[in-house]
Amino acid sequence: MTPAPALAQTAAFGPSNPFFAPSTLPYHAPPFDRIRDSDYQPAIEAGMARQIQEITAIADDSAPPTFENTFVAMEKTGQLLNRAMSAFSAVAGANTNPTIEEVQSALAPRLAAHQDAIYLNAKLFARVKAVHDNVASLHLDAESQRLVTIVCDQFIHAGAALNHADKEKLKKINEEASTLEDKFQRGLLADTKKAAFVTTDRSVLAGLSDAQIAAAAQLAESRKVQGCVIPLQNTTQQPDFTELSDRATRQTIFQNGWTRGEQAGGDLRPVVARLAQLRAQKARLLGYPSYAAWVLEDQMAKTPQAVLGFLNQLIPPATAKAQREGQTIQALIDAQHGGFTLQPWDWNFYAEQVRKAKYDFDESQVKPYFEIDNVLENGVFYAAHELYGLTFNERKDIPVWQPDVRVFEVHDADGKPLALFYCDYFKRDNKNGGAWMSSFVDQSRLLGNLPVVYNVANLPKPAPGEPVLISPDDVVTMFHEFGHALHGMLSNVEYPTLAGTNVPRDFVEFPSQFNEHWATYPAVFRHYATHYQTGEPMPDALAEKLRKSRDFNQGYRLTELLAASMLDMQWHTLAPDAPVQNVDAFEKSALEKSRVDLAAVPPRYRSTYFLHIWANGYAAGYYAYQWTEMLDDDAFQWFEEHGGLTRANGERFRSMVLSRGNTEELNQLYADWRGRAPKIDAMIQDRGLAGK
Ligand SMILES: [Zn+2]
Repeated sequence: MTPAPALAQTAAFGPSNPFFAPSTLPYHAPPFDRIRDSDYQPAIEAGMARQIQEITAIADDSAPPTFENTFVAMEKTGQLLNRAMSAFSAVAGANTNPTIEEVQSALAPRLAAHQDAIYLNAKLFARVKAVHDNVASLHLDAESQRLVTIVCDQFIHAGAALNHADKEKLKKINEEASTLEDKFQRGLLADTKKAAFVTTDRSVLAGLSDAQIAAAAQLAESRKVQGCVIPLQNTTQQPDFTELSDRATRQTIFQNGWTRGEQAGGDLRPVVARLAQLRAQKARLLGYPSYAAWVLEDQMAKTPQAVLGFLNQLIPPATAKAQREGQTIQALIDAQHGGFTLQPWDWNFYAEQVRKAKYDFDESQVKPYFEIDNVLENGVFYAAHELYGLTFNERKDIPVWQPDVRVFEVHDADGKPLALFYCDYFKRDNKNGGAWMSSFVDQSRLLGNLPVVYNVANLPKPAPGEPVLISPDDVVTMFHEFGHALHGMLSNVEYPTLAGTNVPRDFVEFPSQFNEHWATYPAVFRHYATHYQTGEPMPDALAEKLRKSRDFNQGYRLTELLAASMLDMQWHTLAPDAPVQNVDAFEKSALEKSRVDLAAVPPRYRSTYFLHIWANGYAAGYYAYQWTEMLDDDAFQWFEEHGGLTRANGERFRSMVLSRGNTEELNQLYADWRGRAPKIDAMIQDRGLAGK
């Protein structure tokens, strides 16, 4: 070991910092009772500096490279950084404030540079490569071999194998691309805000409830404009289209959204076109025919051809179903003597009328049966108990980041401690939108760590003393996020790099979407869907209506997603020598070529507001949402064929899939459990796409 150089800029970091030493709380839970906002930055900076020391010591080791002194040693680095970053990420996402936000933007570029300092370290890569190329003679166990493959691939993927001149070119491309990504993100945010619908004439907002109008008036006030403001959501369809009865209003809002990102002074089309070109050039530098080929190599799908083949199987039945739905809607428009052809801005308004007529169903009828604690303990936890034998005890002694957060200790069937699970379900102004799972501690036998994971959601919080009654979608969200949590908690691997949810994007949503199936499974549903006042189970007729209404509008929903996925794939299979594209022409031709260009069903995102692919890391990855739907429907079909909710079925799934993280090639792992490769049939069946 080389002597450690002095730590830079860590004057404020010492034993009084709560991250200085590993947490002494059960499961090494973060000591939120002692953490102040000012503790994060010094701890994270010291954590980066320490990891660089640790990595340098490995790279400079005078002993010949071995699996132990290179791969195992790397697995043990960065523990201080992990402890500080995991707590910081939780707070930054779920309970932020201006101080935290400042720290976040200050750290973002430095964390990216920190990654480069590891992956582009030539001495370190030489050792990694030496062990990798010699792996057959080392007689390692399967998981250790997998670690060698995965880590070596991560280095090569990041450009470690390039010569010095090409590494410099790569850094330049990365720099320009990240600047453009940032420009796109900020430009889109500004344009989306600017493109909001503003009116002083309330009659054009007919159909909205008093509460919706009040919210629109309040937004106008906060933006210091007269009248009402209807903001745009970052999708093609807008939530209020279901209620807005004035057709001209819907059309204007739609057009505002459709052309956002094209405004003079803030036109994002040149940004998008240049980004696509830069990415194609980056792929060529790294030795790939396209950016998608580079991205997909370490995913389950592996190649652009596999993704396109998968999407092409879904497009004909999805568009056929969307067309049938469109015909039903057109018939309703005609019956009302509308005198126009169905347009995208009409779809949801009339679809909602069709839904009410067809299913005679309203969310307010079912909500009294979905009281949150009942859903959590008698639904989410119950299914995990029946399948995996888990039990849950609330712990009031573990510190949390906000008083609404609850903590449960999870025990295995044999009574052994397994994990800590936190849930933070209620909406707050200082919380990001949506729902997610993450971890404070990843499971690892090497490090002797049991998992500490959490779920966050944005469920509406009622006034104090009122029951928390949630919607059917919210119930599904709780099961979904808990599916991710199970993937983290049931992990049983040696190395943290391969633990739990550290898997490719087109696998990670599989356990979560799979767990959603139990929300509507009759034995589970009956166990939790009881009236919050009377305790009576939901009447069968109502439960049946709820189940049937899930089939509604599936053609539209899937088609708009497939169109977005195809757009993403077309942009990222662009040839490296292709000129800068005309965005509008490219988009039109991409959708036509893919046969997913229904006039009334536009893509969920246009190129000019497709944040996922231009700034959020989903480039050549948007298909993953549909890919994992194939997996979860196919997997649930296996359960149905084998007796459904039983301990034996759960145990088999746990030992062969959920506990395994990324310790085996995932196509193989899935096929070993399922008895064959995944098939698309169950997905087509479940979405009601198999003909009329
Ligand atoms: Zn998810």
